[in-house]
Amino acid sequence: IDFGYERVARGEKQRRVGAVFDSVADNYDLMNDLMSMGIHRAWKHFTLELAAVRPGERVLDLAGGTGDLATGFARRAGPDGRVLLSDINPAMLAHGRDRLIDAGIVDNVDYCLANAERLPFADDTFDCVSIGFGLRNVTDKPAALAEMRRVTRPGGRAIVLEFSKPAVPGLDKLYDIYSFSVLPWLGRNVAGDEASYRYLAESIRMHPDQDTLREMMRTAGLVRCGYHNLTGGIVAVHRGYSP
Ligand code: SAM
Repeated sequence: IDFGYERVARGEKQRRVGAVFDSVADNYDLMNDLMSMGIHRAWKHFTLELAAVRPGERVLDLAGGTGDLATGFARRAGPDGRVLLSDINPAMLAHGRDRLIDAGIVDNVDYCLANAERLPFADDTFDCVSIGFGLRNVTDKPAALAEMRRVTRPGGRAIVLEFSKPAVPGLDKLYDIYSFSVLPWLGRNVAGDEASYRYLAESIRMHPDQDTLREMMRTAGLVRCGYHNLTGGIVAVHRGYSP
């Protein structure tokens, strides 16, 4: 399994990803705003629009971390809907739960510690399943996509928001400079953790590009798969439907 520039054993990748998110959990929201200059809010807003959750729907947010997407889903699903915020990391999930409670979102949200590769839910449970900036951290991505399809009801949608491959000429060079100098600098000087932010840059570079991910979603059994590039393809939102 690739972990940055090294190749490490499968379980070792999961352990190291766990250590990264244990370490960044306290600074996660501040760093998100600094690193993306606030643009991650617009990416998430677009994702929420594309997911088009309606009142009364059941939604699962995988690798949900501090709960930005889950907050939007809960507002849209309303009192008759249900949102499950889920993550593999207890520290990230605890931050997410605290944030939603502080925002007064308590009636229609539940929390679940779960690995996206093996979900503890029955088939066809959810109207919509999302994973935002989480898939690249998952060791077995095909397994996670297959699980997303399995727990999504027929006709329901699976949404993947993730860093992708810049599609505008020249942007990839600028983006590399940003990723391998600005991000580690922010990690060192703001979060006091350069290594985790180097992992972030490397995991982004190694993540499948738009067309590869669309093909992986099809292979997982999803249908009508497509994507939207955001910010010149730095980020892409993929959507597929459960057949
Ligand atoms: N979705 C949130 C957002 O968009 O701000 C958080 C994204 S954060 C960059 C990535 C999250 O993926 C972390 O909270 C991490 O614990 C979680 N994660 C990593 N591997 C996972 C796995 N195998 N299953 C579920 N969550 C995982």
